[in-house]
Amino acid sequence: MDIRFDGRVAIVTGSGVGLGRSHALGLAARGAKVVINDLGVSTDGEGRNSAAALAVVDEIRAAGGEAIAHGADVSNEAEVADMVEQTMKEWGRVDILVNNAGILRDKTFAKMTMADFRKVVDVHLMGTACCTHAVWQIMRDQKYGRIVLTSSASGLYGNFGQSNYGAAKAAMMGLMNVLHLEGARDDIRVNTLAPTAATRMTENLMPPEALELLQPETITPGLLYLVSENAPSRTILGAGAGCYAVTKVYETEGVLIEGEGNTPEAVAAQFDQIAATGGQSELTDAFQQTRKYAKKAADARGMK
Ligand code: NAD
Repeated sequence: MDIRFDGRVAIVTGSGVGLGRSHALGLAARGAKVVINDLGVSTDGEGRNSAAALAVVDEIRAAGGEAIAHGADVSNEAEVADMVEQTMKEWGRVDILVNNAGILRDKTFAKMTMADFRKVVDVHLMGTACCTHAVWQIMRDQKYGRIVLTSSASGLYGNFGQSNYGAAKAAMMGLMNVLHLEGARDDIRVNTLAPTAATRMTENLMPPEALELLQPETITPGLLYLVSENAPSRTILGAGAGCYAVTKVYETEGVLIEGEGNTPEAVAAQFDQIAATGGQSELTDAFQQTRKYAKKAADARGMK
């Protein structure tokens, strides 16, 4: 079955350049009406310029598609509200939100100012929350929504010098987990993309041969699947150079240490077994963990 977006309205944040631009072009090429949101800032979040967003709108229209530009700062609630209002005025619905806008302010934690930490959290986490919150009720009323949050290997696995960015990108997983649970009954599906791509963000970090393989267009097919009619939900999809993989979080089976024996020394002594894989499971809501622990303790005491 072809994946199409005819009649669907999509907002793609930070889509003037890089990954966002590629996602927006991909959506438009398959029939979506697309809002090209971009503040037009430098990689570290300075300045403001509408030229890149307008150029993407021109490109989509020249190919026969429909697009409008909006220069909202994703972390500014009033500007985001205006963007969603303009979208509703123009097309009357919002089916897809791709939270992609982002910046970097890399420094070791020792040298990081709290202003730089806060700014990166503001754009990635608060920006994603603001845009998602602004379309949430619309999607609930429509009983349809597809939302992607953009994470990063830096957030999932860590990267030296990116405590601010890593923290903000790891937060995508937490936000996704809760939105998945709260959106499910209204067919709002929420997924996370963890891309690795050749863009201005990474052009100085990787050798030219790697950059050639990691073009944004090699990632966009994965994004299009994550926002399609038959999309999964609560999936973290890694993507780059045409490779796709899913990141999962598991909890080990664990160990019960009872009563008087429950001391820090006992935890230390049994830590290898506590951390041992083999009986691990994927928990799908917070209380599953509580129930698992309570059951282990109750079983050991012969309780029902
Ligand atoms: P990019 O710098 O090429 O593009 C980011 C875009 O976001 C720019 O057009 C910028 O103007 C816009 N933007 C920044 N702050 C904004 C704000 N407050 N409001 C609206 N727009 C804003 O970066 P990219 O490499 O295409 O990255 C896109 C997303 O993917 C980011 O969230 C990034 O963290 C993530 N990511 C990228 C890589 C990679 O390898 N390139 C890896 C992991 C994650």
